[in-house]
Amino acid sequence: MRLFACDYCDQVVHFDNRDCVSCGHRLGFVPELMAMYALETAGEAQSQLVGMPSERRVFCSNAALDVCNWLVDPRDGNEFCIACRHNRLVPNTSTSDGVQRWRRIGQAQRHLFYSILRWKIPHPNRTQDPQGGLVFDFLEDQLRPDGTIMVPMTGHDEGVIAIRAAEADDATMEFVRTSMNEPYRTLLGHFRHEIGHYIWNKLVRDGGRAGGFRSIFGDEREDYGVALRRYYAEGPRPGWNENFITPYASSHPWEDFAECVAHLLHIADTLETARSFGMAIDPRRGHREMATEVGFDPYRARSAQQLADAWVPLSIAINAIQRSMGQRDTYPFVMSAPVITKLNYVNKLVTACADRRDVGA
Ligand SMILES: [Zn+2]
Ligand SMILES: [Zn+2]
Ligand SMILES: [Zn+2]
Repeated sequence: MRLFACDYCDQVVHFDNRDCVSCGHRLGFVPELMAMYALETAGEAQSQLVGMPSERRVFCSNAALDVCNWLVDPRDGNEFCIACRHNRLVPNTSTSDGVQRWRRIGQAQRHLFYSILRWKIPHPNRTQDPQGGLVFDFLEDQLRPDGTIMVPMTGHDEGVIAIRAAEADDATMEFVRTSMNEPYRTLLGHFRHEIGHYIWNKLVRDGGRAGGFRSIFGDEREDYGVALRRYYAEGPRPGWNENFITPYASSHPWEDFAECVAHLLHIADTLETARSFGMAIDPRRGHREMATEVGFDPYRARSAQQLADAWVPLSIAINAIQRSMGQRDTYPFVMSAPVITKLNYVNKLVTACADRRDVGA
């Protein structure tokens, strides 16, 4: 994630800031320009970008509940921003807990969209692609008449990404994380995993790339239901860590791919953050094998090896900083050579989206 600046006073601001602490202007994110802009209200709900007075924008309708800080071009004809317009079911907004859950979910969703936009991954909605367009359902737990709770499943099905809204609550998230014995579990991680299934459908299956996929990830025609039942009954494959980034990735090639997409997103985006802050790591001055600075655009990496060379020393340093604060490791994973080969496949797939659109745009 880039570090942003208020375009009026140049104060450093973050992706989720609503106001500039220095000049006091209200701020909004303009996704087509990938930048934060200071706003001056110009009549009914319409706003003018202070630095570009000819440009008018309106806030995404979800700004009314302070769920979203993105702006929409009124000529666009849509009341929602390019992220929120994919939403179908949202948490219950009649309770403050529901609104709070949605704020957290929306923040993670826009972070996902930041990466989608950086790579220019196609994301048609259901009007543009009625069968496979991208849709989000944020599902609340339901109380059954007998008093038990029906827990909705987080998952993906032909463009529909379902997220269990209750995981926006820290207590629920932590309960699930420990009961599943997972070292890392976040809302952002859910979005990055589920979009992996969507990317597989759109870019691998519909893109005619199944052959190349199988040579790296194995044959996804293996029965998915049987594979998952086996995983939950018997656990991950023995020696999973030699070939897979997580135990769950060993359950089926689709899950392996989705986990690799999630990790490529974790790595590219966190490296971009480090780059934005000018971070350089050189713990043993002169021993270059542990030194790194991110001297390239991680969203346009040549290869997964280039990402890994910067990521391994940086993630070790970040984990050490976390331990100094009594916190869990930020990145509790080890990347083996076969995993880097898989990440390389995903990196090629998503950077090709950016290249294609750059030529056409
Ligand atoms: Zn400012
Ligand atoms: Zn929005
Ligand atoms: Zn999955």
